[in-house]
Amino acid sequence: MEEATVTEFDHPTFRLAVAQFDQAAEVMGLDPNLRERLKAPQRALTVSLPIRMDDDTVKVFMGYRVQHDSARGPSKGGIRYHPEVNLGEVAALSMWMTWKTAIAGLPYGGAKGGVKVSPSTLSLGELERLTRRYAAEIFPIIGPDKDIPAPDIGTNAQVMAWLMDTYSEQVGFAVPGVVTGKPLAIGGSAGREEATGRGVVNVTLEALRHLNIDLSNTTVAIQGMGNVGSHTARIIRQAGAKVIAISDQLGGLYNPHGLNIPDVLQRYQEGKEPLGSMHKFGDPLTNEELLTTDCTVLIPAAVAEQITTHNAAKLRCRILVEAANGPTTLEADSILADRDIFTIPDILANSGGVIVSYFEWVQDVQRFFWKEADIHERLEEIIVAAFQRTLTFAQENKTTMRIAALINGIDRVAQAHQLRGLYP
Ligand code: GLU
Repeated sequence: MEEATVTEFDHPTFRLAVAQFDQAAEVMGLDPNLRERLKAPQRALTVSLPIRMDDDTVKVFMGYRVQHDSARGPSKGGIRYHPEVNLGEVAALSMWMTWKTAIAGLPYGGAKGGVKVSPSTLSLGELERLTRRYAAEIFPIIGPDKDIPAPDIGTNAQVMAWLMDTYSEQVGFAVPGVVTGKPLAIGGSAGREEATGRGVVNVTLEALRHLNIDLSNTTVAIQGMGNVGSHTARIIRQAGAKVIAISDQLGGLYNPHGLNIPDVLQRYQEGKEPLGSMHKFGDPLTNEELLTTDCTVLIPAAVAEQITTHNAAKLRCRILVEAANGPTTLEADSILADRDIFTIPDILANSGGVIVSYFEWVQDVQRFFWKEADIHERLEEIIVAAFQRTLTFAQENKTTMRIAALINGIDRVAQAHQLRGLYP
């Protein structure tokens, strides 16, 4: 079974997800039958997407949707548009979604989708046609009670609107609950766009409190200025921390006295200037330098496998908050544990996004919408409770926050499988 799993989905990120799962399964003494079952995603769909480009040629893109588990409810997870997307990576991300929704106590399983494309190279029309064709191809396996997509790297509220529309046109009536992360006007939720960043800040503040570190003495370095990185930077600065370094894939900006985040973000989002040339705000730095910056909190908020054996020993932070999915390799993880760097794992740290997705779906299904203040309050309540549960388990069992979070999530999924039994 293990070999079949690896052959079908073989990819470094999938191997990382399975290795983390195996570590936790070992510690918790998970039933061996369940252990095999939970490694192999329940369902995986690969589709080809022929798209008429603006110059009238037809290009074919590859798309995927992997549903890792649905024992606790409909599967849930984002859709990634990125040139390196493939089946194995999507499968890994879908497994992490299963643990993520379980840790937060949401009535969902885990899924993930992706299209192998660099979205910035497409015109708006091409992006729309690609999204609609992808939606039509995965139509048979998605739905508000089956599998509910959301944004991820390279996708946004507009892409979700096209997905919602394509699905709705097929069934003949508006189905806002089929995707989350939609624009407000078609059933989106207040606070969804910034939710992952807000959740990252909620758990970071808890970690600082736990370690008795004063917010006014806290410096933060953030890798990635997409949706998650930019909102995290803005909200953590508002909370009183100093953001001293930020970056995107081209490089970053450093100022030991604290960056003026609102002004930097405004300029950055206008898209006129790379971060590294904004000399008025700070000095340029590379991504590698950012990761090894002397700071209180390091927040990787970009792609997987950034903290590796090459740089783990050189990190100079007290707390690592994994806003990205899978930013730390297995080997780097054990180096960090030996170095006593307090790590808040991805499946806990970045769960704010899916928590508010859940609120959006509940609002859509009930056709009753909440105030933004309620969203913030309920997000904080859920994510802080998950943090505290994980911390207590880690302390009582003398294990890392990652293992504690994984065990917490896996245990809930295992219970659901045990109770439902094996069909047929
Ligand atoms: N793509 C986000 C994640 O990785 C959000 C998923 C969702 O809201 O369903 O958690």
